[in-house]
Amino acid sequence: MNEIRPPARALPADLADRLRAALPEGTVLTEATDREAYLLEERSLYRGQAPIVLRPRSTGEVAAAVRVCAEAGAPIVPQGGNTGLVGGTVTAAHEVLLSLGRMNGIEEVDPLNFTMTVGAGCILADIQQAAERAGRLFPLSLGAQGSAQIGGNLASNAGGINVLRYGNARDLVLGLEVVLADGRVWNGLRALHKDNTGYALKHLFVGSEGTLGIITRAVLKLFPRLTDRVVAFCALRDPADALTLLSLARDRAGEAVTAFELMSELTVEIVQRHAGGQDPMRERHPWYALIELAGSGHDGTLRPVLEGILEEAFERGTLADAVLAESSAQYAALWRLREGIPEAQKKEGGSIKHDVSVPVSRIPAFLRRAGEAAAEALPGVRVCAFGHLGDGNIHYNLTQPMGMEKAAFLAQWERMNAIVHDIVVELGGSISAEHGIGLLKAGELRRYKDPVEMDLMHRLRDALDPGRLLNPGKMLG
Ligand SMILES: Cc1cc2nc3c(=O)[nH]c(=O)nc-3n(C[C@H](O)[C@H](O)[C@H](O)COP(=O)(O)OP(=O)(O)OC[C@H]3O[C@@H](n4cnc5c(N)ncnc54)[C@H](O)[C@@H]3O)c2cc1C
Repeated sequence: MNEIRPPARALPADLADRLRAALPEGTVLTEATDREAYLLEERSLYRGQAPIVLRPRSTGEVAAAVRVCAEAGAPIVPQGGNTGLVGGTVTAAHEVLLSLGRMNGIEEVDPLNFTMTVGAGCILADIQQAAERAGRLFPLSLGAQGSAQIGGNLASNAGGINVLRYGNARDLVLGLEVVLADGRVWNGLRALHKDNTGYALKHLFVGSEGTLGIITRAVLKLFPRLTDRVVAFCALRDPADALTLLSLARDRAGEAVTAFELMSELTVEIVQRHAGGQDPMRERHPWYALIELAGSGHDGTLRPVLEGILEEAFERGTLADAVLAESSAQYAALWRLREGIPEAQKKEGGSIKHDVSVPVSRIPAFLRRAGEAAAEALPGVRVCAFGHLGDGNIHYNLTQPMGMEKAAFLAQWERMNAIVHDIVVELGGSISAEHGIGLLKAGELRRYKDPVEMDLMHRLRDALDPGRLLNPGKMLG
């Protein structure tokens, strides 16, 4: 577990008292037992050390807290559900942690405007359910949705399984309210589908990982509820066939293609071994894809469309085998093969992870080149590749070779990252497709990002937060 950066400048001894004077009782936590839950990170890669944890309930309280901290020169680290996995919410001993978890109100659902207004601390799954109750869909969907908060989703521009059709978190927000580094509140909480009145400031804050401002409220876009869903699990010879199948599905079903998840053979094998998944195929295949079509029409409308796509793919020789879900239980069982992968990986041994993207058409080249390079660098390494083919986003995880010590394998983390990330960048890709940069990839961002782009990012940060008090050390280093 890494102890992060030693204190740059100790917090003023009376900071907690000053914060208590400005905020309601119960907002400022200083006892070790009260702070503990906010300082631990799921993978135990880091341990936070913030001596003060703040739990505001309103935008006014966030603004008051930021003003007191700014006057004292105290850095603030915003925290949502703490599910980010890149050390984005880790604190040093000279930093204050500000949790948005109590700002969890669903303030307004407007089904006719297809929008809802929520507090930044709303849990993603609660937002999905509130939209559902209003007969609408909020399509952001990802593994951590039971604890991740919308403020964290927006701050890290989360994606998930429906990006192919609905886009990332960035595409799902119409308005934001943000507390700035000096404690002023920017009210950009507009529920407008069209607004051409200058810079789209909301997009600066989306994906800024808490380095430009603290998101306090958001207006989100809603969509028609999906009433018809059909899913198929497909066996394929190689990723090039998967790409052809995706292209065919989009040609025949257009927007109805909501998910297209690629999985290497090892993923299905380990989900069967460790996570209770059942391979529905008679024999093993090198690659699999899970296709989902969904729509708002009558139940059963899309089934013949998907059957037609699969038949055409068989005739063209693109598809080796396919299983269509016949019931909701089979639907869940097929999705289980995809959703069980992260849990199964933990039980299979050490994993060296890469959350990368390349242009969709270059996925086959990426998988081939990365596979060859990894095997040469570490003979016996097993490729556990899966992800959102339709977005060009692959979780390219390397599983420890059979018989190798886990610690010896994980000691290869940086070397293997460099090998894989060099290939990604050569193919015009990104070293972080979903989880962001945080602390974990700040060094790699400096290595791979265009220097002009890095300079612009620093200038923007310095314009909005000249004292560098918001989430220092994260993303920009
Ligand atoms: C099991 C699992 C599956 C996942 N699957 C996917 C996936 O399929 N697709 C995908 O894109 N991602 C995925 N993720 C990553 C996911 O997007 C993030 O974990 C999530 O969006 C972060 O939300 P959070 O509330 O936990 O934020 P945190 O982890 O608390 O914070 C993340 C970053 O945002 C900042 N932040 C948090 N709240 C605010 C705020 N209100 N204002 C300003 N800054 C803030 C923090 O300082 C930090 O830098 C997955 C994560 C897990 C654990």
